[in-house]
Amino acid sequence: MLIKRALIVAVAAFLLLSCRAGELKRYNRSGSAMGTSLTVIFFTDDSKRANEIMDELFILADDLENRLSTKKAESILSELNSKRELVIKDKVVLETIKESIELAKVTDGRFDPSLYHLIKLWDIENNSAVPGEEAIKDRLSHRGVEGIIIDGNHVRLENNIKLDLGAIAKGKIIDELARRLQERYHIDNFLINGGGDIRLGGRYGGLRKWKVAVADPYNNGEIIGLIELENCSIVTSGNYERYFIDEKGDRYHHIIDPETGYPSQSGVDSVTVISDSTSRSDALATALFIMGSEAGLAFAEKQKDTEAIFITKVDNKIEIKQTERIKSTLNNEKKWNFTLE
Ligand code: ADP
Ligand code: MG
Repeated sequence: MLIKRALIVAVAAFLLLSCRAGELKRYNRSGSAMGTSLTVIFFTDDSKRANEIMDELFILADDLENRLSTKKAESILSELNSKRELVIKDKVVLETIKESIELAKVTDGRFDPSLYHLIKLWDIENNSAVPGEEAIKDRLSHRGVEGIIIDGNHVRLENNIKLDLGAIAKGKIIDELARRLQERYHIDNFLINGGGDIRLGGRYGGLRKWKVAVADPYNNGEIIGLIELENCSIVTSGNYERYFIDEKGDRYHHIIDPETGYPSQSGVDSVTVISDSTSRSDALATALFIMGSEAGLAFAEKQKDTEAIFITKVDNKIEIKQTERIKSTLNNEKKWNFTLE
């Protein structure tokens, strides 16, 4: 069963009706892209071009999705998966594959871009039955980034693996949209939110930090609090949006533990990762979800410029754990206010 995405992001900035911040004017647009909702907000004094820039960003998002998604039969990724070897001239696609190999190594394979067969077997979005143990075991023998051989721009897949970049591509696309804004249009103050993967450029109106809401994984549409941030990427992975419930009433979600072949049972219900790139935050959110709050927290502390917030439930009580640089206070309405030191 597909539960509608409603993830993090009631950005407090949305609520402000005032548009002007010095010379800069605020523009925003929401639409659908990458199989989810995409919202772009930016500040510029170039009112003539703002609409054109928005058009361009939404077109670019679709274009990148068409190149990177394995859900698109015509994508470069799908071509690689079916031909098994391919000269990839598309810089972004090649970069994403390389980055995913690196992140798989860093996370000891918890984030694994080669899980295509296993993910397809579970097919969480269309299925409602648990696959057989033998089938899971069989799919598990065809995985691992050692099977991705790159020589220049020639990529070959071994061990019958196929790639699924679902846990990193959205982040990468958002980074590319951000790059376009900064490099081509010199827009530095912006927010790009693709279904809960968020890149924050500079500050709100260039003046104050952005405020991003962190979703409550136990109450649809509610938030546990706000986090104040500037110039970084924040991504949440959770088990409360995409899952199916089998006839016994057990819930099976979309983050697969590559060790077991089953949806991760780490006890974490939501993990939010903050780092300097959206692709990295995206892949790490998936990996940290699987590691669990204890190992995940230790991992995040060791990584440079990587912060994390874990939400779990212990004895029916919500428990929040975060890396040391994240400070938090509880307000009168029992919502958290997080800041980064
Ligand atoms: P979302 O798309 O909900 O933001 P994630 O970024 O956590 O979620 O990515 C989940 C997607 O990544 C799954 O739908 C699947 O395609 C893929 N995936 C699932 N488990 C893993 C894993 N262990 N490593 C890499 N990709 C995975
Ligand atoms: Mg992810």
